[in-house]
Amino acid sequence: MNFDQAKALRFQQWRSTLDDHDFRMQNPEAHRQHLHSMASTLVAEGLIDTLEQYDMNEMANAAYWHAVEELQSHPVRYCGASSYDLVACDGSLILGEIRQTIFHARRENQVEARTTYDGKVYRDGAGANLVFNPSGITARIEGLTLTLRDGRQFDLIETGRMILGVIYQPIDDPDMYRALVDAAQVALEGRDLRAYEKMRPFMDLASFSTCPACLDRFDRRDDCAACAGQGFVIKPPGSGLR
Ligand SMILES: [Zn+2]
Repeated sequence: MNFDQAKALRFQQWRSTLDDHDFRMQNPEAHRQHLHSMASTLVAEGLIDTLEQYDMNEMANAAYWHAVEELQSHPVRYCGASSYDLVACDGSLILGEIRQTIFHARRENQVEARTTYDGKVYRDGAGANLVFNPSGITARIEGLTLTLRDGRQFDLIETGRMILGVIYQPIDDPDMYRALVDAAQVALEGRDLRAYEKMRPFMDLASFSTCPACLDRFDRRDDCAACAGQGFVIKPPGSGLR
């Protein structure tokens, strides 16, 4: 393989990562950072120069901002890096929990030694399937609602998420959330990518979401009855609101 072929092949790999819509929407920060690290490897190997690297990184950054915009109007989807409790929509029953794609059924005897897992989640373009072990029976996850074959429905309540290798719990303090949203807004307006990408996963994971009535708009928030002027509400289970 000559230089041009090697360069074309490696650029093609970078390009297909850039175009990986699912990866980008699932984890925009990891997507952008992965593209940047691919480009710096290409520089280290002498396949591209720093000017080409700059252009490629700019494209990766633009893709990130695009994903952020898209996610704001996008229903929440099952996230493979998250843990969820599966709670019946009427609150009567907890089926179990999903931790990083593995389902653990709730058992009466919590000390029972487990030799196997009880199911695994497989994502697809429109949602995900939970395949129970060992029966192989499948339940469907769409948005943050799981539907069993008999029609019973459960909300996926997010209880934690792996962010940069560490598992965090949702922020449930309103003052802390307000401060985070305000800081993120400043970073977004200033296109401060490094600051914004540190904050976005925590806003996404938080127990709150933007008020659907006033949309946290400064001119409407103060008189908003839905959120009592806070600009955000407690995230309704399974609603798909962010
Ligand atoms: Zn409001």
